Amino acid sequence: MAIPQHLTKIVATIGPASRSPEVFRKMVKAGVTVARLNFSHGSYEDHAKTISMIREVSEELDVPITILQDLQGPKIRVGELPDVGIDLAEGDAITLVPTDKFQQGDRVYTNSVTIDYPYVAEEATIGTQVLLADGIFELRVSGIEDYAVHCEVIKGGLLTSHKGVNFPSLNLRLPSMTDKDRQDLAFGLEQGVDWISLSFVRQAADVRMLKALITEYGKSDVSIIAKIEKPQAIANLEEILTVVDGIMVARGDLGVEMPPEQVPTIQKHIIRRCNEIGIPVITATQMLESMIQNPRPTRAEASDVANAIMDGTDAVMLSGESAVGAYPVQAVEMMTRIAAEVEKNAQFVNYPASGTDEVHAISEALHVITDTIDFRCIVAFTASGYTAILASKERLKIPIIALSPNINVYHRLNLVWGVKPLLLDREVTSFEMVIQQVESCLLERNLAIEGDLILIVGGIPMGIKGGTNFLKIHIMP
Ligand code: ATP
Ligand code: MG
Ligand code: MG
Repeated sequence: MAIPQHLTKIVATIGPASRSPEVFRKMVKAGVTVARLNFSHGSYEDHAKTISMIREVSEELDVPITILQDLQGPKIRVGELPDVGIDLAEGDAITLVPTDKFQQGDRVYTNSVTIDYPYVAEEATIGTQVLLADGIFELRVSGIEDYAVHCEVIKGGLLTSHKGVNFPSLNLRLPSMTDKDRQDLAFGLEQGVDWISLSFVRQAADVRMLKALITEYGKSDVSIIAKIEKPQAIANLEEILTVVDGIMVARGDLGVEMPPEQVPTIQKHIIRRCNEIGIPVITATQMLESMIQNPRPTRAEASDVANAIMDGTDAVMLSGESAVGAYPVQAVEMMTRIAAEVEKNAQFVNYPASGTDEVHAISEALHVITDTIDFRCIVAFTASGYTAILASKERLKIPIIALSPNINVYHRLNLVWGVKPLLLDREVTSFEMVIQQVESCLLERNLAIEGDLILIVGGIPMGIKGGTNFLKIHIMP
């Protein structure tokens, strides 16, 4: 089957518009490589059904699909409001009361809303900015009284139940993960997800905590993505980069927590740092937003997707476009067309080695060799995925066929730029077997023909992380 052969990966958030096998199959054929399940929405029953649907379509089409479980993380929300909402007009006074205090019924303030954060009065000061509903409404703190915070409405509108609350300037005492996140994690690991992304990461310790939990479940090969959407995460980016397996530039909340004009510069910086280190990076939110309603994107959206790819993002992501939009398949097709076009013309940057082991040394050599001779593809034998990820870091414009006997690695690698994972049906124990497997895998799938030059990297014996120790130029018989 002719699945598009572009090198950039496409992440689609799966929701009501895309969780039928008919639609999802079309999306995979159009170029989706990663399915994101957002655990801020939907029931376990829905997610379980979606996961088995994804695995079935993947097997049927013989295409690996990475499943990314997105954990909601600590997010403050307003409580229950009257069904009609409450109207906030500029200049109005409104009081924020922690939910627990309100339930104790200590005192009733007129014109108050509850928020599920107990320490707001201890941390806010006069003038603190409060943003509601993804930054649509803005308040400013005008007074503090016991546990309650009085605010003046700066930008108003109709506020309804459970909208998000952001305090961009405060360092809040929130746990890295909520009880819901822990339950969701247990569910996801049980279901066999490949990557886990954590929202509202602030520091490396948040990632370490998630990693420790994953290890407790005996699933330490499941990889972690930190969603960068808080000012603290930007401040702590370097320490976060030392502990994560991947990054998401989560522009939705990032544009609320930081002035939107700063988002493009931050995005470029994060992509560059991930490229330098050699970990995958996803650019997310509003990429083709107007395609929620329209079959074609705006020029500005097409340009946004193209620029993220030119800057070196591993993956571009669809959110509402694929979860609830009217044109989920067309949105994927559009991203594929943009990726193919950009890849034809762009000069991707290859950064110097970020480590001193054998895998780094061999990856560096790939560049020189493929600059000198034209190859059909690179074939990477990889037990853990490490060799393929570092080969991807070179940003060569030829595919890296990643052969792995491990089905988890096979699925997990389809988030990584330029990597085409294939499942080996046996362990490879000798150099002769390497050659034989390469030849049969490539020929069977029409990935190479007689006389093609291919470049093989791997390690014998297989299965040792960092055990890459050979590089062979091979002519297909
Ligand atoms: P995040 O900040 O994690 O991106 P979000 O609320 O912006 O959260 P998206 O994943 O960006 O959510 O998806 C966009 C919209 O699609 C959501 O706001 C929600 O309305 C809808 N959606 C996503 N996943 C589901 C689902 N599983 N079931 C129902 N609706 C969903
Ligand atoms: Mg978010
Ligand atoms: Mg979103």
